[in-house]
Amino acid sequence: MKLVLATHNAHKVEELRRILGAVLPDIEVVGYDGPEPVEDGDSFAANALIKARAAAEHTGLPAIADDSGVCVDALGGAPGIHSARYAGTRDDGDNLRLLLKNLEGETNRAGHFECAAALVVGDVEHVEAGIWTGEILTEPAGTNGFGYDPIFRPTGYDVSAAELTPEEKNAVSHRARAFTAIAPIVGQLLK
Ligand code: IMP
Repeated sequence: MKLVLATHNAHKVEELRRILGAVLPDIEVVGYDGPEPVEDGDSFAANALIKARAAAEHTGLPAIADDSGVCVDALGGAPGIHSARYAGTRDDGDNLRLLLKNLEGETNRAGHFECAAALVVGDVEHVEAGIWTGEILTEPAGTNGFGYDPIFRPTGYDVSAAELTPEEKNAVSHRARAFTAIAPIVGQLLK
């Protein structure tokens, strides 16, 4: 049974393959190279559903998609769903620098990564969320990962997310939690 993951990101395909493979060895996770829909939802869940629906319609196969970002308490949850283009470009460095600038002098550094994983199988739709709490550092550290990882210190760690190995991050991240939560639903709906 094939499941399309609506992303061009090979790392996400690998991660979902690993998580689903552990519970559902018969499912083949494939990438998606069809048209990308406009992500104009007002939540991670809405945007994940928009992407999963588009992939399901285009391929005629069950599809899964994720949408994620970082939410900072002192900024009222920003950048949130605008995380990828916070600075007006798609550049991780620009986004991270703008977030540090907007938090200059701020003592409340609490925030979290959030991920919504959406599954569309025919007329049935299901969404699960994953949260990874932590705080925003005052300067970047580490070179692993992507996005805001160098300035995010996960709760329970004394290093940034970019100083964790991919295996360490994949065991606890918001995306891993959302994918792990949706895995049994995939199993039920694709039986
Ligand atoms: P997308 O859901 O893959 O489009 O990710 C949205 C944006 O949120 C990314 O471009 C990153 O800026 C940020 N983001 C999401 N997940 C992570 C993560 O695990 N680490 C660092 N940044 C992330």
